[in-house]
Amino acid sequence: MVLRIRPSMIGLSSYVAGRKVPGAALLAGNECPYGLLPAVAAWLARAAPAAFRYPDMACGTLVQALAAQHGVTAEQIAVGAGSTEVCGQLLHTVVDPGDEVIFGWRSFEAYPLLTAVAGGVAVPVPLHGDTLDLDAMLASVTSRTRLIFVCNPNNPTGTAVGADNLQRFLAAVSDDILVVLDEAYREYAEPALVTDASDLIGKRPNVVVLRTFSKAYALAGLRVGYCLGAAALIRQVRKAQIPFSVGTLAQDAAVAALGEAAEVTRRVRLTVAERDRVTARLRGFGYDVPQSQANFVWLPLGPDSKGFADECLAGGVVIRPFPDEGVRVTVGLPEENDLFLELAEKLR
Ligand SMILES: *Cc1c(COP(=O)(O)O)cnc(C)c1O
Repeated sequence: MVLRIRPSMIGLSSYVAGRKVPGAALLAGNECPYGLLPAVAAWLARAAPAAFRYPDMACGTLVQALAAQHGVTAEQIAVGAGSTEVCGQLLHTVVDPGDEVIFGWRSFEAYPLLTAVAGGVAVPVPLHGDTLDLDAMLASVTSRTRLIFVCNPNNPTGTAVGADNLQRFLAAVSDDILVVLDEAYREYAEPALVTDASDLIGKRPNVVVLRTFSKAYALAGLRVGYCLGAAALIRQVRKAQIPFSVGTLAQDAAVAALGEAAEVTRRVRLTVAERDRVTARLRGFGYDVPQSQANFVWLPLGPDSKGFADECLAGGVVIRPFPDEGVRVTVGLPEENDLFLELAEKLR
C-alpha cells in the first residue's frame, strides 16, 4: 500500500525563500536592512532567560499594546507567527473544502499554498499591467467565494490601489465574503493609498486588516503578525492559531518595537528615499519600473528574469526572480543598492 497524499498538495509549488548567500547583498527577502531596532536588541538580551517557559498564549501584553496603537479593543486583534500564519488562520476560519479564495496574481506566493492547505480552491485573477484588477476580482466572485485577499501594496509588483478604488471595491463585495487587506508594506506607502484600519473595520465587519512586524519593524526572524477585525470574527480566528505559535521573545520584542516609532519612521524614510533613487536610476538605464509603494522594486523582465537574477548573484547581489515574469529587488543599504545598480546598468 502507498501512503495517500492529497492530490491538491502534490500539484503545489513550494514557497521559495530569499537565498542567504554569505557575503552577498541580500535583496531577496524584503527585510529591513538596518538591523534590529536598538530597544529591541537591548530587550532581547534581557528577556532571553525567560525562554524556558511557554509563552503567554494570549499574547496579552502585545495585544494590549496593539489595541492602544490602533485605537481598537483587544477583542479586535488576533496574532500569529507572522502574518503568514494569520492568513492561514483566516482561511481555516471561513473556508470549507471546495470553497473559493480569490486573489490577484501575481501576488504573495503564500496565498495559493495556504488556500490549498486549507482545502480551498484558489482563484487567481491576473493583474492589470502591474496592478491588482479589482473589477476583475469582483467579477470572479461566485456563490462559493468565501475569502478575497487584497495585497496592498502588492508583493511582488509594489503597486498600490488607491483608497477610492478600494472603498468602491469593498462596497461592492457581498458582506458574507471575508476581505483580507494585507498591508505588510503599508509603512512604505503614501498614506492616501492605505487604509485607516480602525475606521474601516468599525464600518465593515467582513473586512480584516493584516499587519506584520517582519518588514518596517525589522523582526522577520522572530515571527509576529496580526489582524484587526470585528470582535465576533476575531474570536473564531484566534481558535485557528497554532497554540503558543508566537514565542516569548517574539512577543516581548514586538512590544519593544512598538515603542520605537520615531526610529521606525526614520528608517522608513531612508528606505523610501532609496527606493525612489533606485527607481529613477533604473528608469534612466531604460528599465520599465512601476512606481513602488513598498520596500522593493519590480522589474518586469519577462523571459530575461532568471538570467538577470543569475547575473546579479554572480555579481554578489541576491534578488528574487519570478521566471518569465520579472524580478523583485529589495531596497537595501545605500551601498547595496549601488552595487545592484552597477550590475543593472551593465546588464542593460
Ligand atoms: C512579507 C509579507 C507578509 C508578512 O509575512 P510574515 O509572515 O509576517 O513575515 C505578509 N504579506 C505579504 C504580502 C508579504 O509580502
